[in-house]
Amino acid sequence: MDVHSVAVVGAGTMGAGIAQVCAQTGWKTCLYDAFPEGLTKGMATIENFWDMGIERGKTSVAQKAEWSGNLRAVNNLAEAVKDADLVIEAVPENMQLKQDIFAELERLAPSHAMLATNTSGLPISEIAQSTGCPERVVGMHFFNPVPLMSLLELVRHDTVSEETIAAAQSIGSAMGKTTIVVRDVPGFATSRLGVVLGNEAVRMLADGVASASDIDTAMRLGYRHPMGPLELSDLVGLDVRRDILNNLADAFDDESYRPHPMLDQLVEAGDLGKKVGKGIYDWTSGKKVER
Ligand code: NAD
Repeated sequence: MDVHSVAVVGAGTMGAGIAQVCAQTGWKTCLYDAFPEGLTKGMATIENFWDMGIERGKTSVAQKAEWSGNLRAVNNLAEAVKDADLVIEAVPENMQLKQDIFAELERLAPSHAMLATNTSGLPISEIAQSTGCPERVVGMHFFNPVPLMSLLELVRHDTVSEETIAAAQSIGSAMGKTTIVVRDVPGFATSRLGVVLGNEAVRMLADGVASASDIDTAMRLGYRHPMGPLELSDLVGLDVRRDILNNLADAFDDESYRPHPMLDQLVEAGDLGKKVGKGIYDWTSGKKVER
């Protein structure tokens, strides 16, 4: 499958990163968000990333101009997807929301377009069932920050076609990612392990086992994790992690996956992590500070 044109739906943490990498790959990329402030923030994030790259000598002004020329902010879904060969959805982790969007995508995108979801762990088959073309729907799970993380987890559900899986693998390679293919089991291979570790780290913090930074240091130095589980939770977004845990608890009918009350409290207080300046740590100074 030849990709020339991509639409990314949702311009948050993940959507902005995915759109950035698509534009860098040389594809005409439309970034769409249902909220004007979401779209503005997503575009600003990409601009900043490229500007920092120029400052650090990792890219050039001419290169940025070429990439920028591939990227367009679009505030209308029909306009964003009308020419797309590939649509990647990155809206919040909510089944009904994703199903509504996929039903719209089937109606609005070209009939050959691959429809991908970046869900962290919702069943792809249920998202695919909201369309009449489940064979074109696939899970494409990118990692944060998308421009820097090399893994792309592809999720194979029962009714996806082999052509779609093969095309998703070559799309991933074109984007510079290493792909793995996993079965459509809630939480896939990555999220299930990641959120359980993060939730347990929150429980340990609440129980007073150690400070947040000591728990993170334990895993970085003791287990060679590049980042501690609490710091990583702040980077991913505590709301995102809470949603995944609740979805796992429901899907497996197992309460041990429920988010620890401390995680719920932080989310209810609006302390969602690095993206808002406060989460488990305080990030307002630009560095992580114990709260
Ligand atoms: P986010 O909250 O940062 O961004 C979501 C964006 O979607 C927001 O800009 C919001 O305005 C927009 N949005 C909401 N409703 C919309 C709609 N109806 N149409 C279009 N846009 C809409 O969330 P995120 O962290 O980018 O997560 C997005 C998806 O990616 C989720 O499914 C999440 O589980 C998954 N994911 C997240 C991470 C991570 O580290 N944050 C990693 C992998 C996968």
